[in-house]
This record gives sequence, C-alpha cells and structure tokens, in this order.
Amino acid sequence: MGNDIRKECLFCRIADGEIPSTIVWEDEDLVAFKDINPVAPTHILIIPRKHLAGLNDMTEEDIPVIGKISYVASLLAKQLGIADDGWRLVSNCGKNSGQEVPHLHYHLIGGKFLGPFSDR
Ligand code: AMP
Ligand code: ZN
Repeated sequence: MGNDIRKECLFCRIADGEIPSTIVWEDEDLVAFKDINPVAPTHILIIPRKHLAGLNDMTEEDIPVIGKISYVASLLAKQLGIADDGWRLVSNCGKNSGQEVPHLHYHLIGGKFLGPFSDR
C-alpha cells in the first residue's frame, strides 16, 4: 500500500506506532488497541495492519487475516474477562453504518449488558 495513505490514515499511523494508543495485542497481521471513546467498560478496536477502507475493499487474499480477527477477538475476550458474560464484535462499513474512520476495524465490546444490536 502506498506510503501516502499510510501517512494520512489515522489507524495506519496507530499501527505504525506514529500515534500513541493503548495496545492490547500486536502481531505481524493485526493490532488491537483501546477505543479512545468507549461505549462499554471494554471497548477494543482490532485492525489489520494492511490498509483497507472497510469490508467493501476485502478480497480473497484478505480471508486469513479477517478470520484471524475473530480468533484474536475470542482470545482477548477471555484475557479481558468478558468471555463468560458475553460480548459483541462488529465492523461498520460505509455511510449507513456510521463508519467514521476509513480503515477497516472491528469493535470488540463487552463488560455490561449491550442491549439490542440495532433499532428496528
Ligand atoms: P467507526 O464509527 O466504526 O468508524 O468507529 C471509529 C472508532 O474509532 C470510534 O469508536 C472512536 O471512538 C475510535 N477512535 C477514533 N480515534 C481514535 C484514536 N486515536 N484512538 C482510539 N480510538 C479512536
Ligand atoms: Zn489505514
């Protein structure tokens, strides 16, 4: 991915260590860090290091890393003590979802009763 996007994208810059964050997981494919404005006692963002604007940009080659996000979410849920009571993993994609940051990310949320997933 071109360096231009990596320099301008907030979450690329967090993944590259240029903007500080509270990192809770890091490997060659993924970074997970605390959301700066949490909606629940536990609110972690899990991102691929590779810049994708959102799931609309996913291709077949991204299947392993996207699959790994679910696995790492399950490990973090256990590590952070929310696995037994339950949690949610969600990725907003595009305008109707309210996506604000155009670098693919999954919200791992828990630590309280989360209520309905969406308004009906
Ligand atoms: P979304 O609306 O799905 O794009 O979610 C973007 C999330 O990024 C929000 O929950 C924000 O609170 C979070 N966020 C924005 N800037 C930062 C930052 N610098 N560090 C951590 N989380 C952030
Ligand atoms: Zn990015």
